[in-house]
Amino acid sequence: MLNKSAIAIAITALSLSTTIQATPETTSQYYQSILNNPQRLSHFLYNMPKGGDLHNHHGGSSMAENMIRYAKNDHLCVDTTTETARIDSTCSPTNLLENITRTPAGEDALVDAWSMHHFHEGKETGHDHFFNSFAKYSAITSQHSGEVLSEIVDRAGNQNETYLELMVTPDKNASGMLGKSIGWNPNLSELRTKLFAAGIANIVGDISKKLDTDETFMKKSLQCDTHAPMPGCGVKLRYLYQVLREQPPEQVFGQLLAGFEAASKDPRVVGINMVQPEDGPISMRDYDLQMQMVGFLHTLYPNVHISLHAGELVPGLVPDDGLRFHIRDAIEIAHAERIGHGVDINHEDNMNQLLDEMAKKHITVEISLTSNAMILDVSGDKHPLPLYVNAGVPVTLSTDDEGVDRTDMTKQYEVAATTFKFSYPTLKSFSRNALAYSFLPGQALWDDYAYQQVTSACKHDTLGNETPSTTCQAFLSNNEKARSQWELEKRFVKFENEY
Ligand SMILES: [Zn+2]
Repeated sequence: MLNKSAIAIAITALSLSTTIQATPETTSQYYQSILNNPQRLSHFLYNMPKGGDLHNHHGGSSMAENMIRYAKNDHLCVDTTTETARIDSTCSPTNLLENITRTPAGEDALVDAWSMHHFHEGKETGHDHFFNSFAKYSAITSQHSGEVLSEIVDRAGNQNETYLELMVTPDKNASGMLGKSIGWNPNLSELRTKLFAAGIANIVGDISKKLDTDETFMKKSLQCDTHAPMPGCGVKLRYLYQVLREQPPEQVFGQLLAGFEAASKDPRVVGINMVQPEDGPISMRDYDLQMQMVGFLHTLYPNVHISLHAGELVPGLVPDDGLRFHIRDAIEIAHAERIGHGVDINHEDNMNQLLDEMAKKHITVEISLTSNAMILDVSGDKHPLPLYVNAGVPVTLSTDDEGVDRTDMTKQYEVAATTFKFSYPTLKSFSRNALAYSFLPGQALWDDYAYQQVTSACKHDTLGNETPSTTCQAFLSNNEKARSQWELEKRFVKFENEY
């Protein structure tokens, strides 16, 4: 066991550039004592309040076994050469999903094809196996979006997460298809007018209706309105509308417009993101055009938040030139407030200046350690997480695709702890960052990002108190972000009293 001064040195060294509010030494001390004990560490981190998950895709977060269960009465047909499930009225009985999954081998083959389970690199790279999996089961996730939502939210609740900012495409790309029907016009203002004339507002209205339907299903499934609500009912849920970047520009713009409109009209949709392989041919070809589209819409909808996958690349995956500007352009052209992955930061032009800019502008990087290891083969000392932390760039840990990656939020904290030996206060800052840099509206509980100064309305209160003072309560009632942060602090008080 470490003595007090050794712990203090360890915490100082690992807290790096941010000053972290002191936490009860016993919790830090306990954490240090179990850092090399995988079972106790896992249990500790499972129970630790983990703020929120800001980078989680609805379409990649259901476990394959669950999807098979959701689809058991759908009579889907499985193409056994690709393990793709789809609707096909001419399907031979032997290819029906319900018949294939009667044998353990049949079900195993699907689980392996629909996730990274048992994956070994051979003909197919981890990157390709990962991205190829989505189309194999999308007939299920699109039909059973309520079940998938319930699964994701319940998993988050069980792991003591407070908040989930989930990436969704509730219109099933109807807005992209509307863009296709209109065709490309480089005058984005005219293109926007045409999309309105063609009825994009109806698609935006349907997005809200779809969220209503799925949330109603979820609340019933998790028994949220009963006296025995499941843990997921305590998770605040918001959405990012996700745009498929591997489409022609008219489709990308159609989706982007739907996303910005939805985020302006439905408070549950807090922003937009862009998905699909960043190294894909269209994404690489149109990267700056896509950033300009987002930048254009940002000027029209300045209150809509923007998070973008950028720098989910490594040398060899794309030509070297492609590694030099994606993160910077996402920030400087598209006005991204958060960056998903940012793995290739060391290949960006003027990296030090860019890191400095990210730190000064509080541009957060959403780090998904399991995903980066599986898709990009970047882990351990090859991962830039410590680089970001040392540069003072805000960091959150996120899951990306829990189902395909067979992972969860606890695992992200475990990998961060064991690989980089972060202190408990640093892990706590990752957790707090997930709310501070969330796109929730309202003022924050903290006046600073080092979590030293509580805002004046609550500064005389005991942090995380069950019954805040009248002034503090009034502030929390009016500020959703602060209210979530108070809830997180409440959970930290309880957790730290137990350890
Ligand atoms: Zn992602």
